Amino acid sequence: MSSPDRLVSPLADSGDVAETSPALRPTRLDEFVGQAQLKARLSIAIEAAKGRTEPMEHLLLHGPPGLGKTTIAHIVAEEMGTRAYVTSGPALTKGADLVGTLTRMQPGDVLLIDEIHRLPAAVEEYIYPAMEDFKIDFTLDGGMHARVVTYRLKPFTLIGATTRAGLLTAALRSRFGIAHRLEFYSTEELGQILTRAAKQLDLQFAEDEARQLIAARSRGTPRICLRLLRRVRDFAEVRGGGPITVEAASEALALEGVDAQGLDPLDRAYIRVLADVYDNGPAGLEAIAATLGEDAGTLEDVVEPFLLQIGLLARTRQGRRLTSAITEMDGTNPAGPLFEESGPSTSDS
Ligand code: ADP
Repeated sequence: MSSPDRLVSPLADSGDVAETSPALRPTRLDEFVGQAQLKARLSIAIEAAKGRTEPMEHLLLHGPPGLGKTTIAHIVAEEMGTRAYVTSGPALTKGADLVGTLTRMQPGDVLLIDEIHRLPAAVEEYIYPAMEDFKIDFTLDGGMHARVVTYRLKPFTLIGATTRAGLLTAALRSRFGIAHRLEFYSTEELGQILTRAAKQLDLQFAEDEARQLIAARSRGTPRICLRLLRRVRDFAEVRGGGPITVEAASEALALEGVDAQGLDPLDRAYIRVLADVYDNGPAGLEAIAATLGEDAGTLEDVVEPFLLQIGLLARTRQGRRLTSAITEMDGTNPAGPLFEESGPSTSDS
């Protein structure tokens, strides 16, 4: 089972390349839907920084994947009138990997380090002086003749994005001037994102309910909502084109195993393991992961946040537990087949 292939996976897949097209990614703060508090904080920080001709403060964004962290980094650069450079924690193995980018950056440029919780300790220590005093140290020559040379950088903004703020060292976290947790989006906000995307993709909805239906199944995540839109568009095209009807949207998503709440086979397998094997819990994440044959980190990043959000799952000191809301998921609920399928192997993602 490879989770990034799930239709509702919030992780980017190759089909999402299209989403990086400048047309679909909002480029200005006022085009960015939702996250009102973050937008307010950023617009003040950006304006203040511009007034002082300084870079914006270092920003730490955390929250589940697909909620707009990368988009925000590009927007900050755009609003500051500077450029954004993008790298990720696992891509950086030693401090020297960053030298090229850091020394090339111009005043006010933005450096986005995605998955910053996976930054090796050596790189982390390397970026402390870069963040605090805009300088880095090079070691020239080796052994007895080693010399440390300090290089001054142009003042820049580091944006760290992470799905696991808890894994960041306190030392690193404290070096960010602003830290913000991104929230899941409301169905209404996702509806607005769909309206904008549909316009750009030259798509029409036959009924507003068709748009609502996709928004409601996108588990609060813009990346999923745009991906579902593409699947529905393909389905509608193959079925003869024309505006997207409720029927086409719901058939297309049912075909992909996405139910009315946006739960997919992996979510349902997770719930079923907890319900059937662990008697509704509490059970440890590692145990659930082992039973499912999934990676615990993947479950924690892409399955659990949404189940917690919709109140089906509770995380207690003893482990994960299903809430009483699960008993309301009877046969009339599209999530009902949950209890009729037979075991985790039915998951086809
Ligand atoms: P993350 O970095 O958190 O994984 P991204 O910034 O890559 O997420 O966003 C995923 C996709 O969702 C992108 O195509 C982006 O354009 C879109 N998106 C995210 N947030 C918004 C938003 N608030 N409004 C419109 N589109 C959004």
